[in-house]
Amino acid sequence: MKFEEINRPGWTEQFWSKVHRARKSECWEWQGARYHGRYGYFKDRVTDPNTNKHITLKAHRYSYLLHFNEIPTGLLVCHHCDNPGCVNPHHLYLGTNQRNVQDAGDRGLIPHKKGTEHGRSKYPEETIEQIFVLRYINKLPLARIAKELEISEGLVCDVLSGRRWQHKHQEWNGKYNR
Ligand SMILES: [Zn+2]
Repeated sequence: MKFEEINRPGWTEQFWSKVHRARKSECWEWQGARYHGRYGYFKDRVTDPNTNKHITLKAHRYSYLLHFNEIPTGLLVCHHCDNPGCVNPHHLYLGTNQRNVQDAGDRGLIPHKKGTEHGRSKYPEETIEQIFVLRYINKLPLARIAKELEISEGLVCDVLSGRRWQHKHQEWNGKYNR
């Protein structure tokens, strides 16, 4: 979706009135309503230009659109800072889809880090695989998945986008995301 497809007069001013704007390196905390006390939400019942369905527009997604103009269909907006309430555009990135991850991997752009072997992941492979099951089979929102598995939403986002556990991404995506 594109910014101009979704934005309405006055929304930008309203958005900034609910943001605690700090320095570029710091998190900009959303002061408005939070979804389960985590992700900020900005607008209810916004019509998704791609599906014509009503969606809730999350604050960090609005921030991404405001600063970068477009979120390609199906892509997630993830947090570098692992803070769901942060709307600092410098802390946001687009979760690449499977093809992009694969292409980047083939070109050697993404180091082939292994999940548990890498040392950063303290979770067993079965837990990480469950993220794909809950997302694509049970169709749960990211916040619910994080809660069910007792992991951070940042990790859920990173795993689904292929930023982490990249070596298993293609396999699990093919298995569950059909
Ligand atoms: Zn942040």
